[in-house]
Amino acid sequence: MAVELYNDGRHVCLAFCDLVDEDASHAVQCNQFLVVDGAHGALIDPGGNMTYSALMMAMQRYFPARDLDLILASHADPDIIASLNKWMVGTSCTVMISKLWTRFLPHFTSGRDYTARTIGIPDEGMRIALGDSELVALPAHFMHSEGNFQFYDPVSKILFSGDMGASMTSADGALPAVADFDAHIHHMFGFHRRYMVSNKICRYWANMVRTLDVDMIVPQHGARFEGPAMVQRFITWIENLPCGVDLMTQAQYRVP
Ligand code: FE
Repeated sequence: MAVELYNDGRHVCLAFCDLVDEDASHAVQCNQFLVVDGAHGALIDPGGNMTYSALMMAMQRYFPARDLDLILASHADPDIIASLNKWMVGTSCTVMISKLWTRFLPHFTSGRDYTARTIGIPDEGMRIALGDSELVALPAHFMHSEGNFQFYDPVSKILFSGDMGASMTSADGALPAVADFDAHIHHMFGFHRRYMVSNKICRYWANMVRTLDVDMIVPQHGARFEGPAMVQRFITWIENLPCGVDLMTQAQYRVP
């Protein structure tokens, strides 16, 4: 089921959140995103081989998959981009990912040289044209990947935040909006404490995101944060969270 996050008739943002087989409790739930502007489309974090066929079919109702312009990858993890080979074969899309990861992508594909269809996003980020609109690749390094980007859509004011804000909830296919932030914290706490590299990085991110007009933060796992008040609650929480290397001591580095 696609969740319509935004639709003004010309510019559409869709989320797919129930494509990981519900029986696959051994696999983490993932959200995939399609942004359409006129006759142009971009997939954000299309996922791995578990979701490829279902995503291809589900998006077809809204946008012809073979016309896909772009695949935007927040980082190079399997749940983000392991299906790349099928998209490269089935469409003529260009894939964009941190320049730190471009030379790792051929390990997801058949080894064919897709250099001409690969764009490495520079560390400072960039603006990416999509139809008459543009998406902004925001630096999100070390949250959690070393070369990491989030994608902000100024039309819908949605921030596709990758692993930032991710929650480990059971996949119910609805991409719920968080209603009670305090009650939601325990779904995020363990993940952010380990996967986010340090509080310093979270504070830099918070300062950057506060300069944007964000109506919704939609992570790649779990629920979304809807409305400026809930967006601010998340930003305030994460900028105060000790995490990653902040928590490490010599005790974690002993020979077993
Ligand atoms: Fe990851």
